[in-house]
Amino acid sequence: MTRRRWSATHLDWLVARLADVRAAARATTLATVERRRDPFRLLVACIISLRTKDEVTALAAARLFAVAATPATLAALPSSRIAELIFPAGFYRVKAEQLKSLSRRLLEEHDGRVPADREALLALPGVGRKTANLVLGLGFGIPAICVDTHVHRIANRLGLVATATPEATEHALERLLPQRHWIAINDLLVTFGQTVCHPTSPRCSTCPLTTHCPRRGVVRSR
Ligand code: SF4
Repeated sequence: MTRRRWSATHLDWLVARLADVRAAARATTLATVERRRDPFRLLVACIISLRTKDEVTALAAARLFAVAATPATLAALPSSRIAELIFPAGFYRVKAEQLKSLSRRLLEEHDGRVPADREALLALPGVGRKTANLVLGLGFGIPAICVDTHVHRIANRLGLVATATPEATEHALERLLPQRHWIAINDLLVTFGQTVCHPTSPRCSTCPLTTHCPRRGVVRSR
């Protein structure tokens, strides 16, 4: 069956199936960091994770946090040392500069705390909408939809949205999804994207959503 519209009932069904997949999978690095309820660690791990594989992010973040896990200790490190600790994360030298500068800004402008405000987060070095929304949601429990490459791709394949950019996907999902799902949807779709709905060849033949998925834009699948 190919669905064209997602009703509230089907959205709940969708989230429940994604949660099943999530329960059987390894926790992502950001989900693991989130368990500490520390917005600063979450912010730093999210910046390290950009254009970086999850396994690399996990090790890089662990090495960095073993040496510096607060704005004061991170700001005190030379950026060359931060780069060394987070290598081989993508753009590690740029990220090292951003993390040092971001830590200084938190100390100077926010009493060493991560602000629970989207505009203030977006004003920090290296922080875009994806990072800001992730920190708001997982760090502070403020409903926000973090749209990364997995969320954007899968939401379009499923026909939840028909959008060209992650920001358009964020706004379209805000209109479609009940707010109670906003924070969790990123982790659910990231895990689903890593295990089932892969970028180049999704596993449609064994996917638990196959009966409801129009598979928009899918040209090759397993
Ligand atoms: S049926 Fe295929 S395209 Fe649709 S969600 Fe499942 S894996 Fe992705």
